[in-house]
Amino acid sequence: MKSLITLIFLFIIYLGFILPQEFNSQELYNSYPTYKESDIKNKRFKHADLNRKIKNIKKNSLINVESAGKSLDGREIYLLSIGEGKTNVLLWSQMHGDESTATMALFDLFNFWEADDNFNKFREKILKKLKIFFIPMLNPDGAEDIKRRNALNIDLNRDALRLEFPESKILKTVRDRLKPKFAFNLHDQNPRYTSGNSYHSATISFLAPAYNYEKEVNEVRGNTMKLIVNLFDELNKFIPGHIAKYKDDFEPRAFGDNFIKLGTSTVLIESGGWKNDEEKQFVRKLNFISILTGLNSIANKLYKNADIEAYYSIPINDNLLFDLLLRNLSVKYKNKKYKIDIGINKEEVFTKDQSQNYYIGKIEDWGDLSIFYGYDEFDLNGYEIKKSKIYNLPLHNLNELDINKILKGGYGFIKLDSLSINREFSSIPFNLILNNAEVKQEPEYNGYANFTIWKDKKVFYNVINGFIYDVRAEIDAQNNGLIFNQ
Ligand SMILES: [Zn+2]
Repeated sequence: MKSLITLIFLFIIYLGFILPQEFNSQELYNSYPTYKESDIKNKRFKHADLNRKIKNIKKNSLINVESAGKSLDGREIYLLSIGEGKTNVLLWSQMHGDESTATMALFDLFNFWEADDNFNKFREKILKKLKIFFIPMLNPDGAEDIKRRNALNIDLNRDALRLEFPESKILKTVRDRLKPKFAFNLHDQNPRYTSGNSYHSATISFLAPAYNYEKEVNEVRGNTMKLIVNLFDELNKFIPGHIAKYKDDFEPRAFGDNFIKLGTSTVLIESGGWKNDEEKQFVRKLNFISILTGLNSIANKLYKNADIEAYYSIPINDNLLFDLLLRNLSVKYKNKKYKIDIGINKEEVFTKDQSQNYYIGKIEDWGDLSIFYGYDEFDLNGYEIKKSKIYNLPLHNLNELDINKILKGGYGFIKLDSLSINREFSSIPFNLILNNAEVKQEPEYNGYANFTIWKDKKVFYNVINGFIYDVRAEIDAQNNGLIFNQ
């Protein structure tokens, strides 16, 4: 009899695991691929793509879609909503046009509401307690040009007081109409920010903005801090050490600061860098988890029990990362050798038609960089840098090049008479010189990152446009070079 009761008891526990469950961030993390909006594959989607997606959402009765107004250049800005709860929550993304990570996550989130799975109970509860409003892509004109500012190059997050521009007016009008208890202000930050003075990139950073210069904490700001503590605890399971917070200097012209002043607990979430995630797809997933964690905390008032002191112990953003850091090299100057570290960053740029991105690698700094870190690092004590060589290509067919052989030879540039196709960057790992254009071969501070790395009169590494190649290995390079033309 006793064992039967135990068996029934165990069965009930088992049911608890397989029946529709409530919030569990690990489970959510695992099932994320089923919600991911597969149409958005990289961060370069535009307002036209958004229009298309929203048209599809309109067909779905769960999510309500209305127009919130038009941007300076006349692009539609949407307000979507779901839920029937008494507590309003507002989320907006991409008020800076080139910060699209959270917009991608919002579309994953729209799919999440439509799903029918283990999270049914969770969804039901959230939507019963909250009414959630979304403005994805508040700055569609900036998004169109992949730039931070709006069509007139105004930083909208400095227009919260004057409210001169339509995008700012829309956001303020929506807030005043809804008077949300909580809001999420979703941005991207410099991918080279670190969590405090550690070598960890700040993959997600938070801020509970101040509402005055004294940085006082009232209930509205205090609740923001507590919510962030909940977000930190959940995210820390997936990216320990990679979470930070922004400095809380009061910015009277910013929206977060003003919304807190008006009574809306506004969380700033900044999507930062993660190694080898240039398209921000992993950070997108972390946004999805963060937002649902936040909604769960608000709906169930979990933030109320959070320890506000934990907010203060989140490390502050620092700026200590290079894309590539080469330590302890020697450089020759007037026949004397000097020890230097070299910090290289690869700036992402877009082709004129914005269909492709490529990189421009520069020597950001050199000298003693011992306090810094790199996404990639090499200790090259005993190695010396020398200029890259120019390879004269007698034929015009780049496909016939033996890439490995030329890399091993210490070449960084290929000189051609002309190119048969009009390109903005070189799709092979070498820089191209056209029409006898002048190039600086000697590596220099602030110059392009092209040089070779030698030991015992042999080339060991070849750095071209900021990418490093170990010439002893078989190289299957997909990286790009630059084109120097007259
Ligand atoms: Zn921003």
